[in-house]
Amino acid sequence: MLVNKAYRYELKPNKMQLVLLKKHAGCARFAWNWGLAERKRLWEEERRTTNAIEQHRKLNELKKTDFFWMYEVSKCAPQEALRDLDRAFKNFFQGRASYPHFKKKGIHDSFRLTGTIKVFLRHVQLPRLGKIKVKEETRKFKGRILSATVSREADRWYVSLAVEVEIPDPAPVEGEPIGIDVGLNHFAVLSTGEKIEAPKSLKKNLKRLKKLSRRHSRKQKGSNNRKKSALKLARLYRKIRNQRKDFLHKLSTWLAKTKPAIVIEDLAVKNMIKNRRLSRHIADAGWGEFKRMLEYKTIWYGSKLVVAPRFYPSSRRCSNCGYVLPELKLSTRRWTCPKCGVCQDRDVNAAINLLQYLNTA
Ligand SMILES: [Zn+2]
Repeated sequence: MLVNKAYRYELKPNKMQLVLLKKHAGCARFAWNWGLAERKRLWEEERRTTNAIEQHRKLNELKKTDFFWMYEVSKCAPQEALRDLDRAFKNFFQGRASYPHFKKKGIHDSFRLTGTIKVFLRHVQLPRLGKIKVKEETRKFKGRILSATVSREADRWYVSLAVEVEIPDPAPVEGEPIGIDVGLNHFAVLSTGEKIEAPKSLKKNLKRLKKLSRRHSRKQKGSNNRKKSALKLARLYRKIRNQRKDFLHKLSTWLAKTKPAIVIEDLAVKNMIKNRRLSRHIADAGWGEFKRMLEYKTIWYGSKLVVAPRFYPSSRRCSNCGYVLPELKLSTRRWTCPKCGVCQDRDVNAAINLLQYLNTA
């Protein structure tokens, strides 16, 4: 079975490479912002849309006269940025994402390269940038490289190598299928009644983040103190992101390896509930990322992911008799079924309903 995977390494660039990394990120950001402004203008003045190929051609023309500094970086950086923009617009037109935003320096520092990319034990070789040292050895690396995405997080740079690799077809997973409900009080609730919490250290850091960003916003703009606290904040973000990723990886791997089928809700987070605080919470919990992990890991490990449709009444349905409540407030944690009299824990009931959906799917 041929699958796509990614390997991520922290880069240890020398001074010259660091300058070049920043230039590449700047150029990719510039191309994105230029492309976005151009698309807006085309729509306003000519009522037409465009695509990555046309935009790249135009940018190449401008490079000769206006943007000659772009010659310093690999031509892939702007080209891939325009491709990303193309995809962002497709997602927007198909209602899957909001209208693309302009990218800010310091927040969106990343770029993608294709072409000659090689992996050595302690180095990764990238077009234009040469051999850059990596922090960890690349011993486990395997597969055919498709592209390299370089990104900055706080004061560190990372490369993520997308590869195509052949893995053996998995044997079917033995065990019981499971339904999983999005928890609001818990990260997730399983149809077995098990409630899964995000790690305590992650919760603690999220609290720290709140405090730190409040303090940060009170610092004077442009001051040294503000710069210092911005770096501190960015480091904490990175820590939280890594902690969350680690937790989600462990959980999704365990599920995909031990459950033959996993049923979840269609997490159209955007349309889910118009409550900002709640949507914030869902975003924090990393459900989108968790779903993506389940999508590919179930394929890798021989399990199956089933997504119940958006309007499946998982919370309002009684898992004992099938009665569907006309309404259920978000604040209601337990309810008693008016038809069969069984008392339901909101989250566990929803998870069991998702599992029962498997029989109807
Ligand atoms: Zn009932």
